[in-house]
Amino acid sequence: MEGEKDGDKTVAEIVVVRGDKKNTKENEEPTRLEEEERENLNEPKCERQMIKRRKYTSKKEVQCEEEEEEEEDQNLTVILFYKYVDLRNAVEMIAEQQKRICRKLELTGRLRIAPEGINGTLCGHPADIDAYQEFMEATKQFEDIQYKISHAKFEPFNDSLLVRMCNEITATGPMGNCRPKALGGSGGKHVRPEEFHELVKQAEQDPNVVLIDTRNWYETNLGTFRGAIDPKIRNFAQFPSWLDSNKDLITNKHVAMFCTGGIRCEKASAYVKSLGLAKQVSQLEGGIHSYLEQFSSHAVSHGVRTAKGGKSSQVIGKNEECLYEGVNFQFDERLGADYVGRGNISSHGLCTYCKASYSIVKKNVVCSVCKEFLLVCDSCIAEYQTPKCLEHQLLDIDWKVNLGPRISSKEAVRLVAALQRLLETSKSKPNQRAQRKRQKTLTLEIDRLKELVRERGDMNLLINVENIKTVPFVPLFSAVLS
Ligand SMILES: [Zn+2]
Ligand SMILES: [Zn+2]
Repeated sequence: MEGEKDGDKTVAEIVVVRGDKKNTKENEEPTRLEEEERENLNEPKCERQMIKRRKYTSKKEVQCEEEEEEEEDQNLTVILFYKYVDLRNAVEMIAEQQKRICRKLELTGRLRIAPEGINGTLCGHPADIDAYQEFMEATKQFEDIQYKISHAKFEPFNDSLLVRMCNEITATGPMGNCRPKALGGSGGKHVRPEEFHELVKQAEQDPNVVLIDTRNWYETNLGTFRGAIDPKIRNFAQFPSWLDSNKDLITNKHVAMFCTGGIRCEKASAYVKSLGLAKQVSQLEGGIHSYLEQFSSHAVSHGVRTAKGGKSSQVIGKNEECLYEGVNFQFDERLGADYVGRGNISSHGLCTYCKASYSIVKKNVVCSVCKEFLLVCDSCIAEYQTPKCLEHQLLDIDWKVNLGPRISSKEAVRLVAALQRLLETSKSKPNQRAQRKRQKTLTLEIDRLKELVRERGDMNLLINVENIKTVPFVPLFSAVLS
């Protein structure tokens, strides 16, 4: 599931934890995903700690253990899927039905069911996943779902299944009312990976074609299409406010959008179209997953595919260079493991602190304030035991000591320009009471960055702030959208 921190209210919850009692949630540390679910339930949070992952075992396996376990781990299949389809009046019934079938097949994972459709990631033994797909194909509303298939070297959901009834199948915040194409809305044109590949090439030559990555910064940190604009948003709900501050990037352009599996672009592209600024709006059908399946021999050799039983699926663009660089982040405990789907270079990320090349996301390496994933290399993690994201480093008391030496005057000026845009946006919002705290934080951040530049005697750079027209960057400063 292309999970997100939820903005919407959950109608009801059904939690099923597989496995025996000894290994239920109470006895295990929560995973990041579970913590997010907890946050939504307003339950108290636990300290994040290293998790000792319990080996996935199945009743069906009765052979000798150790050798088999290794074998079995390689053989887990994960499916990612969604479908926008009118399920009004049927949400509860479908949730019960899904719970039943998943339990019967001993599948783990996450499912969201909403009046607008279904979204899920499920993991199980290949035969059980096949049986699930057969069940879905026999269900009228779900018969034509396109599954994105990959493998797991370990069970990535902490042995649990979570079936949720929600308002949306992926939390989109202010884009909640944008209707995707499948529900009669006006989303962007779906383009196949081959066609998208051409658009990526075109964007490199033609300033009238822009690629926009709609994912979060901890995803784009690990990989993106060559030349794509990275909004560096914290969560998908910030996408509209980023666009508000960067309208010039899309005005009169052909906007080509992409995300992990396609689901986010369904609403984001409808949102872009609703602004009426772009000349044309396209979205990558099947997302990065589908692109890698056709253009990355590495991804294909690791079993990234779409067609059921399509182990021999061909790399269609094998004579073409794969234009996705890095790894496709997953919303489960596999995170940025490169066997899930890698493009033409294996390393894309940089350490938050020393900026050395580093692309390993670890679920216990997060900002100690906002809990966002951070890339921190092994030597820096030893030094900064409670790492922080850029925003929270800037708000620290000793911000100058830690952040100062690592941020160039040029970068600082760009941040000032972006922050000033955010400040203007905030001031123009109707609910000024709710915005006041944000404006105070933004002003503090702007002042600190200016101070840095001033102390270095680079004031001439600051004079140009007002002239920086295109700042394709909203820094990682929390945009509370109210
Ligand atoms: Zn480092
Ligand atoms: Zn933070």
